Amino acid sequence: MNKLLPYFIIFLFPIFSSCQNNLDLKEKEYKINKSNEDWREILTPLEYHVLRNAGTEKPYTGLYDKHFKKGVYSCKGCGEVLYKSENKYNSNCGWPSFDDAIANKIEYGVDYKIGYPRIELKCKSCGSHLGHMFNDGPKHTTGKRHCINSIALNFKPI
Ligand SMILES: [Zn+2]
Repeated sequence: MNKLLPYFIIFLFPIFSSCQNNLDLKEKEYKINKSNEDWREILTPLEYHVLRNAGTEKPYTGLYDKHFKKGVYSCKGCGEVLYKSENKYNSNCGWPSFDDAIANKIEYGVDYKIGYPRIELKCKSCGSHLGHMFNDGPKHTTGKRHCINSIALNFKPI
């Protein structure tokens, strides 16, 4: 057994370190990296709560819930353009809903905050929390609903 011990350690070390990386998402390096203090300086308290602490704005209160103008939606944290108005639809769920995002702009994760797994959507550039993805979107397109907090987005008309 003693002879095998070093092999166990060598084998297990990468498993432990990869688990740690998955659990400790706040330490992950993004293209845009800021300290919590820096985020607090550029975001309002509610924006910080949603974007950096994965909070949720109250339903039917957001600026873009019933907003259907032509344009693009960018991340409130870093300005990266994430969604197009052509993917926005009226889901009546109380938050802006999109059937898809612009390719390679979103990071997909899983959270268990309310007791069951949900797919969390984050900005791939800065790691800011945007919302969640559900499988009850329009069946004639993707079947997905990206349920996004208005406060996590900025709209720019085109
Ligand atoms: Zn961002």
